[in-house]
Amino acid sequence: MKVLDNVPFRLNLEEVKRELRLNKKKSSSINVQELIKEAESLIRARSVYRVSYIDKKGKDIVRINGVAFSSRVLRVNLEKVERVFPYIITIGKELEDKASQSGDLLKQFYLETLGDMALYSSMQHLEKHLKSQYGLDKLANMNPGSLKDWPITEQKLLFSLFQDMEGQIGVKLTENMLMIPRKSISGIYFPTEVNFFSCQLCSRERCQARKAPYDKNLREKYRLDDE
Ligand code: SF4
Repeated sequence: MKVLDNVPFRLNLEEVKRELRLNKKKSSSINVQELIKEAESLIRARSVYRVSYIDKKGKDIVRINGVAFSSRVLRVNLEKVERVFPYIITIGKELEDKASQSGDLLKQFYLETLGDMALYSSMQHLEKHLKSQYGLDKLANMNPGSLKDWPITEQKLLFSLFQDMEGQIGVKLTENMLMIPRKSISGIYFPTEVNFFSCQLCSRERCQARKAPYDKNLREKYRLDDE
């Protein structure tokens, strides 16, 4: 198990303005630089991953380091793969505490959005780290709960691959499978030859976090029922 502490993240001024939907008029009414500075002071990004090996592949099941995950999409994606990288990333609790205590809905939205951006940037950092450490060209990742095919209940199995996550990076899993701090993400990175995003199999409309267009044909390829 490897822990990356103080993960560098990037909050670019122009990207922040775009994400916060600040046009020229709105930008002049708030100090975006100050907001970024405040968010940065509240964020402590940490990640943990484990180099893991697949020890069994069954029908819609894949066993990783002795833990069996049930997902047809994961199983298909890992068809030619032997080594995977389960991970957990967090930006800590301070920013979300500050946001919920601010009593200002707009400020809350701004801080939450910056937190999401920092979390995404931390994911990119981990992906880059894995590629350079293990000589990999392309990686894709899946998260329990992102698709009906891989339910959130499997989060518990993913956490069982790690020890003392609360002590190591300050993340705990509740009985309802929610991670605390909320601004945390868990999943499995795996080598791939083709781009893959769970969003391609998700028909949800108007999702701010969508990373790739919905592809109905791909659902058929994975033999998934219509949503
Ligand atoms: S489109 Fe949105 S809800 Fe669907 S998998 Fe992507 S991020 Fe998740």
